[in-house]
Amino acid sequence: MSAETLPVATPAQVRAYARRLVVRHPRDLAAVLALHALAAVTGLVTPRLLGALVEDVRDGRADVDTTGLAIAAFVIVQAVLTRFAYLASAKLGERVLAELREEFVDRVLALPLSRVERAGTGDLVTRASRDVDTLGTSVRYAMPETLVAIVVGGFTVGALLLNGPLVALPALVAVPMLWAVWRWYLPRAHGGYMRENESWSRIADGLTETVQGARTVEALGLAGRRHARGDADIARSYKAERYTLRLRMVVFPAAEFGFVLPVVTTLVAGGFLYIHDMASLAQVTAATLYAQQLIQPVDTLLSWLDELQLGGASLARLLGVGNVPPDRTPNGRSPEGERLTARDVRYAYRPGQDVLHGVDLDLRPGERLAMVGPSGAGKSTLGRLLAGVDGPRSGRVAIGEAGGDVPLVELPLDDLRGHVSLVTQEHHVFRGTIRENLVMARPGASDADIERVLAAVDWDGPDLGTVVGSGGETLSPAQAQQLALARLVLADPHTLVLDEATSLLDPRAARRLERSLAAVLDGRTVVAIAHRLHTAHDADRVAVVEDGRITELGTHDELIAANGSYAALWRSWHGA
Ligand code: ADP
Repeated sequence: MSAETLPVATPAQVRAYARRLVVRHPRDLAAVLALHALAAVTGLVTPRLLGALVEDVRDGRADVDTTGLAIAAFVIVQAVLTRFAYLASAKLGERVLAELREEFVDRVLALPLSRVERAGTGDLVTRASRDVDTLGTSVRYAMPETLVAIVVGGFTVGALLLNGPLVALPALVAVPMLWAVWRWYLPRAHGGYMRENESWSRIADGLTETVQGARTVEALGLAGRRHARGDADIARSYKAERYTLRLRMVVFPAAEFGFVLPVVTTLVAGGFLYIHDMASLAQVTAATLYAQQLIQPVDTLLSWLDELQLGGASLARLLGVGNVPPDRTPNGRSPEGERLTARDVRYAYRPGQDVLHGVDLDLRPGERLAMVGPSGAGKSTLGRLLAGVDGPRSGRVAIGEAGGDVPLVELPLDDLRGHVSLVTQEHHVFRGTIRENLVMARPGASDADIERVLAAVDWDGPDLGTVVGSGGETLSPAQAQQLALARLVLADPHTLVLDEATSLLDPRAARRLERSLAAVLDGRTVVAIAHRLHTAHDADRVAVVEDGRITELGTHDELIAANGSYAALWRSWHGA
């Protein structure tokens, strides 16, 4: 599998989406902001009270007890309000996150199959795990905290100005510095975190590839090369991580300095203003405390900006999945009839290298057609096209009677699977009971239906309620194959493409299974791609595929009589 990573959304797409995300639940958002604003306001009273107290103490008419009680009351009210404010924002965050997850799953399920195969699963897995996690942190914590920091910071600046514009000025000294540092940091961080994520994807990709191909790796002695690939990926990741670490090493100390500076300047400049009678003692005290109070929201804001960048990078990768152009264009028509035809079909995995060179095939409804031919001739490729998994590069694969037929790539997936289905050697046993593994093919199927299809595939595995799949009972490869076939029979499409669907069974069992399948599939059109010639012998017609073309087509007897490739194949197989 050559890794061709899935696309990443553009910054404009991410911004637009993030904007919609923030205002998705306007009323909840308004409630969250109002609660935080109230909490912030109650927190802003204390410095004023303290300022007044300092002045009163100087004038010798202080009532410390009353001020102390008032401060305590405000602190308690603030704590209560903050509690509810955080509760509301946490709820909102979780809700938005849940919606994001669902949307991502929808986007992944809508991906063209061929594209998923080309992109490799590692990329998708990293996006579904690490990127969703990162985005989760952003949505759960970074977004609400940032909003809160903006509200609290805004109110604090407001209180600072109300307290006295002149004493507010010294607090602004840090602004140009923080602004410059963040201007330097943000654009670098964007690229840096993107590279970091990408390097994790590559590691995951390499690992899945090695694990999935473990046998091949061992057989061909590729361990060294896989190690080298792993080392290279890790080195790349290390470099990417070091880069972002360096960014943080510049930005964090600068930020700390920027936080403390306003407090100091406010105190020093305030003292100067007080001595020259340009500010009262109460004002200077309150301003200094406000400068101190500003640290927290600004710190929150700046540190979450970092996290938001990470979240943005992840969001770009999650949204990017939706940028894969669809490979099917539903046109709303539904086919009349179930006749599957291929006309002058050509297909290439790589541009300019056709593996099918103009294939014509008319399937007769209800027939069993066996496809035979040398390995690499294009049988599986043709099978995928006949099942509508991929669209032809040129030509047409359509279903329906002439005049009312519809190309498979113009049918929505759900519709398509009601007409044609493909079973290959690869099949997945989902974690769940045998029953659940089957019912997914036809929701609402009764146990009697399930028993019937299991009988049709000569099921010899555990009973319906047994949990199988990862963590459950392990099925043998042959049983997994039977389960996949049973699922297909239950889905009951009119046309089935079986690509070596019985290859994992021993020859005798395979033949028995094919016969019992033939009984349940009576009336269905079946295309069976087979290495075993008895499948061809049992079929109504045989198509010989050689070098991307159908070179012979007819019944077993006709082809034997014609004495061409099939007859040669048959003789050599039979003689052996
Ligand atoms: P068969 O099923 O008859 O063995 P296939 O349809 O699998 O033949 O393959 C036909 C040709 O297409 C072969 O030359 C094969 O190498 C090529 N091919 C098959 N799958 C891919 C793929 N995913 N990417 C590139 N080439 C492929």
